[in-house]
Amino acid sequence: MRQHIVAGNWKMNNSLNEGLKLTTEIMNMVADEVRGNAKVILAPPFIHLTQVKSLIKGAKNVHLSAQNCNHNPSGAFTGEVSASMLNSVGVEYVIIGHSERREYFNETNAQLAAKVNLALENNLLPIFCCGESLEIRESGNFIDFICNQIKESLFHLSEEQFQKVVIAYEPIWAIGTGKTASSEQAQEVHAAIRKFIASKYGANVADDTSILYGGSCKPSNAKELFACADVDGGLIGGASLKSRDFVDIVK
Ligand code: PGA
Repeated sequence: MRQHIVAGNWKMNNSLNEGLKLTTEIMNMVADEVRGNAKVILAPPFIHLTQVKSLIKGAKNVHLSAQNCNHNPSGAFTGEVSASMLNSVGVEYVIIGHSERREYFNETNAQLAAKVNLALENNLLPIFCCGESLEIRESGNFIDFICNQIKESLFHLSEEQFQKVVIAYEPIWAIGTGKTASSEQAQEVHAAIRKFIASKYGANVADDTSILYGGSCKPSNAKELFACADVDGGLIGGASLKSRDFVDIVK
């Protein structure tokens, strides 16, 4: 069944103490808000993961994600963290293919496919990000561009594997810019993504896939965005760093 998810991507923010304080505040406020088939996911930096895990242990519907993993299983890759290491500390999800990783670390669709494979082999659920730059949006070819990202990094998966993936549509022009996609723009792309998934895996799998919106999502626009038929929640950056804002989005 399609799940409703609000995930907080802290990016490279917060000292350990700040991260633990934020987690505790969210935990205190969120308990009553998360009902039924809704999930909250926290994606702190790597070094916070084990302690955030201890804080959320036992909390219903609050889950832990990493922001990235390496595309190699293990070895001499100084400074990197593998999918199996994440699994070994109780991480459940991993964000793969965030536009900041694609842009600043030159991650390619093929590398992201390798990360998705390693995540699944290590019992991690991928939150796979896709989305177009302003230039591509203005060229008019953004749906094809996004579908190609999904095809090249995900369509090698079996149906069973694909069902473990959460998609996040994040238009790059809306990330951290304060410029949000309108609900019509978000719905148009989400519906197109779902149709594209249906063309490969069938309507039932497409219908069950959670597709999150990301890009300047905040308490003032979350309600309208999440009300769209094909928007199943959000991947939140800036607004996930303030407990009140994040919990308001969850609400
Ligand atoms: P933002 O970031 O909410 O700060 O725009 C979203 C994201 O990059 O996940």
